[in-house]
Amino acid sequence: MDYAHILERIHRDIQPLLGQGKVADYIPELGKVRGDRFGMALVFADGRSHCVGDAAVPFSIQSISKLFACTLAFQLLGEDLWQRVGREPSGNAFNSLVQLEYEQGLPRNPFINAGALVVTDVLCSRFVQAETALVQFMRRLSGNPAIDYDTRVAQSESEHAERNRAMAYFMKSFGRLEMPVDKVIEAYCRQCAITMSCQDLARAALFLAHGGVVPWSGERILGASPAKRLSALMLTCGTYDAAGDFVYRVGLPAKSGVGGGIVAVLPHRWAVCVWSPGLDHSGNSLAGVQALEWLTTLSGHSIF
Ligand code: GLN
Repeated sequence: MDYAHILERIHRDIQPLLGQGKVADYIPELGKVRGDRFGMALVFADGRSHCVGDAAVPFSIQSISKLFACTLAFQLLGEDLWQRVGREPSGNAFNSLVQLEYEQGLPRNPFINAGALVVTDVLCSRFVQAETALVQFMRRLSGNPAIDYDTRVAQSESEHAERNRAMAYFMKSFGRLEMPVDKVIEAYCRQCAITMSCQDLARAALFLAHGGVVPWSGERILGASPAKRLSALMLTCGTYDAAGDFVYRVGLPAKSGVGGGIVAVLPHRWAVCVWSPGLDHSGNSLAGVQALEWLTTLSGHSIF
């Protein structure tokens, strides 16, 4: 399979879509990024990789952090994690409050904001600084020791986190959070503000395509079965309320973020990350989803 050629073709054909979509600006610092950027990196377990465009440019990973925070919490709690957060698609926007009251403050899944706040609560109760633990985890997974969170983005989100705070207080009222709301929100804003490139993120996700083991270091992150389960959750819940449409078009487990990144894995083969900040109405990268659709269509490789 000539992936180099496929990525180059995608890079060429995607150009008319760049600048379409809307850059997230409800976190003001995110709104400063140019909407027409595009990068893509595909990495294999043996270290080979293919990159196009802005694949080496760091961007705000935002909700992609939910995947890795959930991995850490799953490492810590195992199946008990599912006492704290569900694993069903929500069918609602990532920051929706509407389901929480009906369901007694139990979030539908770890990849919407409410669920991620519970996951961050788990990490806050186990680590002195949850965000530092996550940053260190990301450095180990990607092999890039320079990864950190962007303090300006974290500050900007914290200043505009009314909705997330509302969710956290609401869940706290149902006894769903152990730690103080302020502590959870600060850690959550910082984890969302972690900055990584497509290359970093594709490498960081590779353990999911490799039975739970980081291929180059041999470190086991999760057992093969938990890694399968986490990938299954990405498939059903990783792209917000557009998860059905995404799977229809792309056919891969994936996690997206409002910074415009999407990371996806093809089990036993490779991991890919695409970045383009213009978002569609669900908050997924408009060009990113199209690029992944072309990737699986042109290569004939998806999970189906
Ligand atoms: N930090 C963002 C928020 O909480 C993350 C949302 C996202 O990427 N979908 O609103």
